[in-house]
Amino acid sequence: MDLNQSIQYIKGVGPARVQQLNKLGIYTLNDAITFFPRTYEDRGAYKKIGELVNGETVTFKGMVTSRVSETRIRKGMSIYKLIVRDETGSIILTWFNQPYIKNTFVVGKEYSFYGKVLGGLGRLEVQNPIFEAYGENKNTGKIIPIYPLTHGITQNVIRGIIENAIKLVDNTLEETLPIKIREKYNLCEVNYATYNIHFPKVLHDFEISRYRIAFEELFMLQMGLFQLKAKANKDYKGISFNKKVNIEELTGTFPYSLTNAQNRVWNEIAHDMESENSMNRLVQGDVGSGKTVVAMMAMYKAVKNGYQAAMMAPTAILARQHYNNISKTLEEFGVRCALFTSELTKKQKEILIEKLKNNEIDIAIGTHALLEENIEFNNLGLVITDEQHRFGVRQRGVLSSKGNMVDTLVMTATPIPRTLAIILYGDLDISIIDELPPGRKKIDTYAVKKDMETRVNSFIKKEIDAGRQVYIVCPLVEESETTDLKSVTEQYEYYKEIFKEYNVAILHGKMKNKDKAEIMEKYKNNQIDVLISTTVIEVGVDVPNATLMVIENAERFGLAQLHQLRGRVGRGEHKSYCILKYSGNSEVIKERMQIMQQSNDGFVISEKDLELRGPGDFFGTVQHGVPEFKVANLYTDIRIMKKAQEAVKELLDIDPLLEKDENSKIREKIDNLFNKKLEI
Ligand code: ADP
Ligand code: MG
Repeated sequence: MDLNQSIQYIKGVGPARVQQLNKLGIYTLNDAITFFPRTYEDRGAYKKIGELVNGETVTFKGMVTSRVSETRIRKGMSIYKLIVRDETGSIILTWFNQPYIKNTFVVGKEYSFYGKVLGGLGRLEVQNPIFEAYGENKNTGKIIPIYPLTHGITQNVIRGIIENAIKLVDNTLEETLPIKIREKYNLCEVNYATYNIHFPKVLHDFEISRYRIAFEELFMLQMGLFQLKAKANKDYKGISFNKKVNIEELTGTFPYSLTNAQNRVWNEIAHDMESENSMNRLVQGDVGSGKTVVAMMAMYKAVKNGYQAAMMAPTAILARQHYNNISKTLEEFGVRCALFTSELTKKQKEILIEKLKNNEIDIAIGTHALLEENIEFNNLGLVITDEQHRFGVRQRGVLSSKGNMVDTLVMTATPIPRTLAIILYGDLDISIIDELPPGRKKIDTYAVKKDMETRVNSFIKKEIDAGRQVYIVCPLVEESETTDLKSVTEQYEYYKEIFKEYNVAILHGKMKNKDKAEIMEKYKNNQIDVLISTTVIEVGVDVPNATLMVIENAERFGLAQLHQLRGRVGRGEHKSYCILKYSGNSEVIKERMQIMQQSNDGFVISEKDLELRGPGDFFGTVQHGVPEFKVANLYTDIRIMKKAQEAVKELLDIDPLLEKDENSKIREKIDNLFNKKLEI
């Protein structure tokens, strides 16, 4: 059976239908049978009429005892009513303006109905019920799949087409999962699963079918990622930075000693760098856990081994800050650093490009500007990307390709639960800095509503009068048409008035880089008391004297992002605070604000965020290049994922390269999956 054949060969699909189905992303027979329901309606469990209660949506059976009555309420508006009964009671069925109803029912015959029950004691009614002769079992009497639709296609039509598609396939789907795995993990057969995920007779059929299909998706993804990783480790001999470098010479100049976690992660990195395989490592650590310092140590080691290093950050502000810190520390050791951003003049840029090519620059720090084609290195050996979740998979690759088999280090402050990290960053080894430097104080966080505004404003004044500085963060740059969110500029006008006697400034993404840098510099030097800003300050900036952050419309942000923002305060010796101003009364919003007040642990927060919002939202899976699942859900199917992972490991122990015949189908599947993925 050719699963790639066009849907036009499915019974009931003519040229017009082909176009409609294409709109739903259905082109081939395979697309049709894997076009899974969005949800299901259980119309299988019949209730007696006497048991029906107001508000429930149910299936029931009733005998027609008299003819349909018609009432004209006004011109062009008629109501049709029918009374049916069983041995426990009777119920009224109502239709509006549907004259055909009059001649549809036969007195004395039984019908099945499905719909929402309205009304109270004795006067129950269902409007516009779905119905059919009892026993027909097409639209009632079973579990009905509900599909995503497009204009011109009804549930009945799509259901019919999918049923015909499955008939056409006629149980010829080939099994992809080896029998041993299916037996051990209780996975039903593929044809059975495909039929029953669409048309389950009872809930159990659906459950075991869904389990199998979700398992297979998670199995294939993880198998693919393992293969990628194995390939990366095996095929590519990388650089061995094996010249001994006395790292204490560098760390000895730090005004503090490294935390245990920093030391552990450093050892992992140093080991990777010395090994002749290329390093592909993700360093995760909460804001302020000291990732940058470790990255600097890695660059130092690379340079002392005779290579160049590059470090890419997502914003110009952050790139500049890294540049300032790193050059200040490393220039004492004769390491030459340069900053590449789009603010450079043409002339400045030409000079830097020339120096970089001639190996007169050891470390290039910058934004996306580093990716430009004319930026060439002499001997690039190490690539670091900071705040990786801001960059696509491909951008990381572009920078790496400016060297030859370079080592790569990816840093992120987005704390990703380990289970998910394995999927999102499956091709990377993971190091976690799970300890903050000593002496960091908890940032006291309060969630407040609009009516507290005056008190919040006096608190802001109190902090400034004590010599501190304040951030006020707004979610949007421009006025949105649909909401009453104040834009950052409006907020700026408002606060300028409120804090007349203080220095108030504004910072947002649409400003010129030069102006942004200037404002940040002033803020750093305490020439600005209150900075009204968008999330451009989210990543990395370090102003120890800032002790209060007020976040407007906090309900608009993800928890991980709030946590990241909040990390901008509490970086110095002073007690720090975060005030979340929110609106809305939903339970989810309240719960989320609660979590922010209670926890200062990025990992706990991200787990909760995931629970409340789901992973798609959280990570932007497309950007990460993770294939979309049709059935599996990265958060709710964690248990299935662990099982699938176990199965992958067992299989790879026996057949690491998937060379055995019985595993050829797996090979085929992941090749397809990952060819697609790599195009992203
Ligand atoms: P991250 O990049 O993880 O957010 P940074 O590397 O920017 O964190 O470090 C945050 C601040 O903590 C910096 O001011 C840095 O100098 C300081 N720091 C880093 N490591 C330590 C440590 N072990 N002890 C004390 N302070 C540290
Ligand atoms: Mg950082």
